[in-house]
Order: sequence, then C-alpha cells, then structure tokens
Amino acid sequence: MLGLAKRLGATILQASTSEVYGDPEVHPQPESYWGCVNPVGPRACYDEGKRCAETLFFDYYRQHRLTIKVARIFNTYGPRMHPNDGRVVSNFIRQALQNEPITIYGDGQQTRSLCYVDDLIEGLIRFMATDPSVLGPLNLGNAEELTILKLAETIIRMTGSSSRIIRLPLPQDDPKQRQPNISLAERTLNWQPKVSLYEGLSETIAYFRGIMSGSPVQQIRILAR
Ligand code: UDP
Repeated sequence: MLGLAKRLGATILQASTSEVYGDPEVHPQPESYWGCVNPVGPRACYDEGKRCAETLFFDYYRQHRLTIKVARIFNTYGPRMHPNDGRVVSNFIRQALQNEPITIYGDGQQTRSLCYVDDLIEGLIRFMATDPSVLGPLNLGNAEELTILKLAETIIRMTGSSSRIIRLPLPQDDPKQRQPNISLAERTLNWQPKVSLYEGLSETIAYFRGIMSGSPVQQIRILAR
C-alpha cells in the first residue's frame, strides 16, 4: 500500500491502534509514550504488526517524502459492529438482549475508554484534511475511562436485561488500563468527541435489537459479512 501511495502521489492513512502502547505504565497515554508490549505474547502479532507498520510509514516519509497520517485509534464502538466479533461492547449487548450471562474476563476492574464511531470518523476526516506536515502519530479516542464491570452494569440497566454477571479467566497480557491523552488531536484538529457513552450505547443497543429481531435470513446475511 505504501508503494502504491508513492506511485500515485496519494496521502495514506494508517489506522494504527492504542495497542501500540501495550499494557501501559504511563497513564493516560500520550503519543510520546513508546509503550510496553510483550513481543512474544498472544497479542503480539497484532501489537507488533501495528508498531512495525508505523515504522514503515515513517520510513517512507523519511525516504520518499510520502504524505502519511498515522492515527492511533482507541476502543471504538457503534452500530454495524459484528455481533460475534468478540469485542466487549458487542458481547455484552448481545448477551444482555438474550438474557444470557454477561462474561466478564478477570475481576472487571480493568479499564477502557470507549469512543463512538461517528466521533472517530469525524476525527479521521479532519486529520486527512491537515497540512502534509502533520504526520502523527495522533491519538483518536474518547478520554472518558470506565471499568469493564461498570460497562456491564450500564448495559444491563439500559437494556432492562435479567442477565447475571459471570467471571471468566482474564486473557494473557490483557491491558489493565487504557485512556487516551487527546490533547494533541484537540489542538491540531480542533476536535473533541461529542457523543456521550449513554447516547452511543443507546444507538448501538437499538441496532443490535434490530438485527437480533430480524428474520433468520437477514441475520445470516449480517453474520456472513
Ligand atoms: N472483555 C470482557 N468480556 C468479554 C469481552 C471482553 O470482560 O466478553 C474485556 C477484555 O478482557 C478487555 C476489555 O473487555 O479487558 C476490552 O476487550 P476488547 O476485546 O473489546 O478490546 P481490547 O482488549 O482490544 O481493548
């Protein structure tokens, strides 16, 4: 893709990730933090793959003056998530709507900061419109941090579910906390997330209700995506 962008003279965006920070010792995470990634752990191929991609983007910028934009995207959610992608928001909403047990991995005290998809897209569009001298890396996400237990309780309340919470083992190298420092994006893009967790979850729950009440054929189409 970098070679293609070079040949076409295109601006190229890397959808990088907060995972480059690994299980961070610095909190919240600014772009200047180099991260804490276990290079041989089960998450490593994703984390190190994204880190390596950032390196290649900057090498192409240095060597070929390619116009690059590197965005570090923090946890994002919203309508059109795949119901079975295994992420925390989709799992909890699906489980709550079916009154099935809500699966919390570990004690639920680990934190994430959840950004609604529309806010993220607005940030990406603004980033792409910046001057070629603005390369990133740039954190994009919502700085409102919450525990996974709190998220589960919120979703149970908002869906009126009778689900109970069960605890499953915490996956290896699961980051304990994650919150973006978004001051660089705020300054550079004149951007801030606008959608509250309550509003964002309401939209997402409505979407999941719609697909889960759809005909089996509709559901198969969505699951096959
Ligand atoms: N998680 C959980 N139950 C689930 C799915 C995820 O407790 O059914 C936890 C997971 O261990 C992690 C957090 O929720 O601490 C966010 O997980 P996700 O896979 O959505 O994102 P990531 O870990 O990549 O931030």
